Amino acid sequence: IDERFDAIVVGAGMAGNAAAYTLAERGLKVLQLERGEYAGAKNVQGAILYADMLEKIIPNFREDAPLERHLVEQRFWMMDDRSHTGMQYRSDDFNEEKPNRYTIIRTQFDKWFSQKVRDAGALVICETTVTGLVQNGEGRVIGVKTDRADGEVHADVVVLAEGVSGLLGSRAGLRDRPEADKVALAVKEMHFLPSETIEARFNLKGDEGVVIEAAGTISQGMTGMGFIYTNKECISLGIGCLVSDFQSTGETPYDLIERFKKHPSVAPLIEGSEVKEYSAHLIPEGGYKAIPQLYGDGWVMVGDAAQLNNAIHREGSNLAMTSGRLAAEAIFQVKSRRDPMTAENLSLYKKMIDDSFVMKDLKKYKDMPALLHTQSKNFFLTYPQLVSKAMQDFLRVDGTPKAQKEKATLKSFVSARSWWGLAGDAVRLARAWR
Ligand code: FAD
Repeated sequence: IDERFDAIVVGAGMAGNAAAYTLAERGLKVLQLERGEYAGAKNVQGAILYADMLEKIIPNFREDAPLERHLVEQRFWMMDDRSHTGMQYRSDDFNEEKPNRYTIIRTQFDKWFSQKVRDAGALVICETTVTGLVQNGEGRVIGVKTDRADGEVHADVVVLAEGVSGLLGSRAGLRDRPEADKVALAVKEMHFLPSETIEARFNLKGDEGVVIEAAGTISQGMTGMGFIYTNKECISLGIGCLVSDFQSTGETPYDLIERFKKHPSVAPLIEGSEVKEYSAHLIPEGGYKAIPQLYGDGWVMVGDAAQLNNAIHREGSNLAMTSGRLAAEAIFQVKSRRDPMTAENLSLYKKMIDDSFVMKDLKKYKDMPALLHTQSKNFFLTYPQLVSKAMQDFLRVDGTPKAQKEKATLKSFVSARSWWGLAGDAVRLARAWR
């Protein structure tokens, strides 16, 4: 392409589409490059869509976006091998005119989002891998190289929205490749069932949906979680753990998901289903301390590529969309002032993202990734087993006096963790959470 662009966006996931749409909407000349056959071809998500963050980009998205179910209920399960101790919240308030959270299927959703980007005026080219950044003599990024013949293209600024496994940023020395203890590997299956069966099994009507987040012995003492999300005619089910934990334990994602599906609390929910899709993807889990430099001369980094992912709340796409939008707004402001896209001017993006929920939330949980990783055996094996045993003893009516049961429960906690251990875990958790 001989043309010169105001901005090149690398990647057509949540972050890239949010950035490309916002830039094109404001009248900038945008080229978006995606290595997949189409936007969404390579993307994996649970997937919960957080409406607020999309509304800030496309206010009327509910009119035609491919949404599955709006969520009215969230369940949290602490599991041992045969039971789960649950907490759940369900409210009819979530049956509102503009629901707050939806399930989506990323392949369909990304195609829709990509069409919006095209409609806004951006040139979107798929099946094109960006292989490197073009820098001028002073090190300023002035364009990209692609795997197409004569595939060098120039622009004032490049938005790196290549996701967590993209190689561009690390090859150019703008970020490190994520270390094995800062990234989770998740596997996911789509279980197809008639919508009436899903509604009956999950106590739903119409487009209502349920989310189940599960932790405990299902991850075999590794740092990780499972999930079950209801779509219209299928259930997304998956589990992910830190890559470093897979390495050190020799566990495989395939075995984990098989065990999760066979758990007595899970099996009846998916019984008789037809599995039509199996996918695997990385999730950035390093949190605040793993975030690289977000801008430089001629470039900004957004979404998963920049580790902007809140693993504690299972939020990623909303941070991706928000960082993409804010980067685009910052670029637009610099452009409107006719200023060059220098690091100094693009630092506006960092300021905007620092002021948003993205950095505030990640900063709040800055010590959680390390805590969960170093204490994974306690949090994902010992405590779920202890809690499950305590619940069963509490509920089983067998003539044992209640005071004796309580004493035995307390003793089981103390002998597993000791008084110091219990107090230490509580303090560490409270400190990391605040
Ligand atoms: P991606 O969506 O990964 O997009 C990156 C894009 O860049 C891809 O399309 C890729 O093909 C392209 N690309 C990469 N390199 C190049 C290159 N060199 N040239 C051209 N194109 C390139 N988040 C939630 O909010 N809710 C959830 O329920 C949820 N569940 C999840 C469940 C799983 C199993 C996983 C894996 C993730 C989940 N997430 C969830 C996280 C969410 O998917 C990510 O945070 C989000 O997709 C990040 O968007 P992104 O645009 O930064 O990256």
